Amino acid sequence: MRIARFTTGEDPRFGVVGGDLDEHGELDPDSSVVVLAGDPLHVGVHPTEEIRRLGDVRLLSPVLPRSKVVGIGRNYAAHAAEMGADVPSEPLMFLKPNTSVVGPGDPVFYPRQSQEVHYEGELAVVIGRICRDVPAERAGDVIFGYTVGNDVTARDLQRNDVQFTRAKGFDSFCPLGPWIETELDTSALRVQTFLNGEVVQDGSTRDMIFDVPALVAHVSSVMTLLPGDVILTGTPEGVGPMEVGDEVDVVVERLGTLTNKVHRRD
Ligand code: ZN
Repeated sequence: MRIARFTTGEDPRFGVVGGDLDEHGELDPDSSVVVLAGDPLHVGVHPTEEIRRLGDVRLLSPVLPRSKVVGIGRNYAAHAAEMGADVPSEPLMFLKPNTSVVGPGDPVFYPRQSQEVHYEGELAVVIGRICRDVPAERAGDVIFGYTVGNDVTARDLQRNDVQFTRAKGFDSFCPLGPWIETELDTSALRVQTFLNGEVVQDGSTRDMIFDVPALVAHVSSVMTLLPGDVILTGTPEGVGPMEVGDEVDVVVERLGTLTNKVHRRD
C-alpha cells in the first residue's frame, strides 16, 4: 500500500495512492487517491468515501519525523571508497534535524556557507511504533514503511567541521517522498539518482554493509525510536555536486521517484 500526505489547499491529509509505477518510477496523474481519516501512522488506515485524482493534489513529505532523522554513513563499500574512507565495523550514525525535512517538489536551498552541496540518493525507513532494543529479526514489527530520501550534504562543511550537524542539517536538506510504501522487500532494490536527467548514482540495497533490520537494531540499541522517525540507510557510490537550477531525481525501485530542484537561498 502506498500512503501519501497531500494538500488541496487546506490542511494536510493522507491518502492511499493507486496505480502502477511506470519505467521512471512515476504514476499516472489519473491515479486515485483514497482519502484517509486521520494520520494512518497514529490511528491506522481508515479510508473515507472521498477519492481524489493524483494530478489534482500536491504531495507533501509523507511523514514529518516526530523527533529525528537518523542518517547512516558509509553503508556501501564503493561509496566509502570514493570518500577515501574505510568501511565502518559498526553502523556509523548521525542525526539530521526534523526541520531539514521537505517534500517532493519542494526547493532545496543552497546555503550561503557552502560551495559544494551534494546529493545522496537513499532508501528511507519510516518507523511505525515506539521501540527500543529491537532485535534485527523483529525489525519488521516496528517499520511502518519506506520512502525515498535525498541526504543533501554540504561536503565542504562536512570536511571542515569533522562532525556532520551543520553539513547535513540545513533547512531543506532532507527531501522525503513521494509516498510511503508499506510493503517492500528491501533486500535488493535498485537506487538511482539522476541529475538533470543524467544518471549519476546507480546502486542496489543488496550492497548495503548493514541491511535494514541490522540498522533498526543498531539505532534502537542507542535511542528510542518514535512513530514517524526516519532512518536514512546510506548512499551508494556516485555522490557529487548539484548547483542552483539543477533538478535531482532519486528513484528507488518499486517505490517511486523523489524530485527536487536546487534554489538559491535569498
Ligand atoms: Zn547519506
